[in-house]
Amino acid sequence: MSKPVSIAVVGSGYVGLVAAACFAEMGHRVVCVDNDESKVKMLREGGVPIHEDYLPELLGRYRNQGVEFTTDLSTAAKEAQVIFIAVGTPQSQTGSADLSYVDAVASEIARSIDSYKVIVEKSTVPVYTNEWVRRVIERNGVSKELFDVASNPEFLREGTAVIDFLHADRIVLGTDSEKAAALLQEVYAPLSSGSYYRSSTAVPGMRGESDPPPVLLTSTKAAELIKHASNAFLAMKISFINVVANICEAVGADIEEVAKGIGTDTRIGPRFLSAGIGYGGSCFPKDVAAFRYVSEQLGMEFELLSEVEKINTEQKARFFRKVRSALWTFRGKRIGVLGLAFKGGTDDIRESPALDIVKQLLHEGSTVSAFDPAAMDRTREVIPESAQMRYVGDAYAAANEADALLILTDWQEFRELDLARLHYTLRYPIIIDGRNLFEPSAMAERGFTYLSVGRPPAQ
Ligand code: NAD
Repeated sequence: MSKPVSIAVVGSGYVGLVAAACFAEMGHRVVCVDNDESKVKMLREGGVPIHEDYLPELLGRYRNQGVEFTTDLSTAAKEAQVIFIAVGTPQSQTGSADLSYVDAVASEIARSIDSYKVIVEKSTVPVYTNEWVRRVIERNGVSKELFDVASNPEFLREGTAVIDFLHADRIVLGTDSEKAAALLQEVYAPLSSGSYYRSSTAVPGMRGESDPPPVLLTSTKAAELIKHASNAFLAMKISFINVVANICEAVGADIEEVAKGIGTDTRIGPRFLSAGIGYGGSCFPKDVAAFRYVSEQLGMEFELLSEVEKINTEQKARFFRKVRSALWTFRGKRIGVLGLAFKGGTDDIRESPALDIVKQLLHEGSTVSAFDPAAMDRTREVIPESAQMRYVGDAYAAANEADALLILTDWQEFRELDLARLHYTLRYPIIIDGRNLFEPSAMAERGFTYLSVGRPPAQ
């Protein structure tokens, strides 16, 4: 049996909250800290501020019995053996990661250290951040023996975050101290030893069994680089397949066939080869920019990454041109939009390509009726409801009397729509699908004008 560790997680967002719930599920005692008082109040009262499968069930199980919520970082840090920093690291104006939240948290932790702590970067940070964190803590008068800084990058994906955390492909523990490595290995022992999977009382529907994930013990710098390089590589895969999709369009080939042919090569793998309207979200855009910035600072131009970014921007513009080619003019047209989140399964709209497209439609004078299963409240804060922008209760209401329907997010439930109903709901049966959710031939048979990405329209 592994020993419970007392853990503080600072930042209760997509990463911090999921990590806290999962650490509790693994048998640890967790205090989850946030400086947003309303979020902490909501969490204490039983609310869940983000949309994430299985998170409500886990929090329901462990709230006040394994996980506590507080704004008091100082007490949480004092009581914890391991402190995970999971605050945001957004993009700054230069493209670099803005580390001011990490800096603020590190200073505050330093002021409360009175016994040995491992301070862990869970946030995605550039290489060398561990040295800055160490310096900040020492500057606040804490002696070297009282703490270590480690990096444990997080690879979860929004929408499947709980499963990704508990069934990770690998656990990266970057530290230059044996003592810190030992403590972090204890934290992850329930997963790495497999004991969690053998005894798991997973909530209904949640995956229980799994092979234990390998633990990769690395230097702190290597761990920091692993995270940036992983995200940059995944973004590169998306931009790559999008250009191949555009070539398919030019020659009349089907990107799905091509992607399958590429992806069955085990050296390449099938995942992240879905053509679409480009990547978005709170990670890929900023992490690609930050990694490019890191290499620039080291005197190396990572031009491959500049190209990845350029292709991604162009992919959205290209999709918009496709919509224009189907509709000719925009002013006065009514457009139905399915999907606002940057991908299916989440309410996160940060850097969502869907929002860029909606903003452009509004700018060109169209009226938009949008539906998203989880992201409408967040979108309303950025694009307020108006006569021109309406948020509706389901996909059919979005399609109602619309001149065309755009699919902008790959929600599973959109694949299951009643196409006959959509057909008679739309004013014109035009669907422009930025996520390739349907078969062109099946759509043509049903009488739709159906445009997608990288696939020839069926005749
Ligand atoms: P988020 O914006 O959802 O959450 C960050 C939280 O930190 C917020 O609740 C905020 O109020 C809190 N916070 C900020 N300053 C604080 C402070 N001084 N004290 C206490 N709390 C503070 O961010 P996120 O999406 O969870 O991402 C966090 C980090 O994890 C980022 O570095 C991100 O790149 C990385 N990451 C994110 C994902 C993802 O899918 N979202 C995946 C892997 C890694």
